[in-house]
Amino acid sequence: MRVIILGSGSPLPDPERAGPSTLLRTRAGDLLFDAGRGVLMRAASAGSSASALRAVFLTHLHSDHLTDLNDVFTTRWVTSLVPNPLTVLGPHGTAELLDATRAMLERDIAYRMTHHADLTWPPASDVTEVERGVVFDDGGVRVTAAPTDHSPVRPTVGYRVEDEGHSVVVAGDTVPCEGLDELCRGADVLVHTVVRRDLIEMLGLPRLMDVLDYHSSVPDAARTAARAGVRTLVLTHLVPAPAPGTEGEWLDQAAAEFAGEVLLASDLLSVEVGT
Ligand SMILES: [Zn+2]
Repeated sequence: MRVIILGSGSPLPDPERAGPSTLLRTRAGDLLFDAGRGVLMRAASAGSSASALRAVFLTHLHSDHLTDLNDVFTTRWVTSLVPNPLTVLGPHGTAELLDATRAMLERDIAYRMTHHADLTWPPASDVTEVERGVVFDDGGVRVTAAPTDHSPVRPTVGYRVEDEGHSVVVAGDTVPCEGLDELCRGADVLVHTVVRRDLIEMLGLPRLMDVLDYHSSVPDAARTAARAGVRTLVLTHLVPAPAPGTEGEWLDQAAAEFAGEVLLASDLLSVEVGT
């Protein structure tokens, strides 16, 4: 199994960082977790594509995690030679989101179906709303969901993917919580979104200060990894984006709480699991 961080950024546009999105290359195919800004450009760099995805998993319905889901939905449709519904799993609200996405694209769908004689079907999705337990089991790959805590955003879920005896957890946005601890127990890799509490407090901007109470700081994520006995912690969704030369500060903050390997994500960071 391979983990590829497609987007290591946040809601704040950054020329070097696409929006939150992680690709897991498994025996069951490519599994996409969240679909932030620029996801398909980064997927192309990683050798994947909308039409190749086995399934998309959403951690929650914040815009920065799904703003390019409509691109995945449309591009899969126009690049598939046969009907190829997009499998989407996510928390309650995901079905409504896909309905609304289709409605938003109604004119585009009509234009293309009128213009392309061979495109005789509209785009489709196969949506499952998930909360807890095994939500995907295919080709020896199993995905388990558990509730996380990103209050007042509700509901939110994290995912654990198991393939060939190895495991990767994609946490999404959350503060430390029991559901995440459960998912992380003994995992090989934990991909965790984080913010820098110290820098945000120093900046003191009210709207940025608001993000502190529903995200994990770097030490929070590191303590979660330590409690669960995770092997490798990947820090992503970096707020604020690390200024050049300050990457070591992020790693040091995590290392103070967690003795395992810590990686600071940049787009297309790739981690092989199980070799
Ligand atoms: Zn969020």
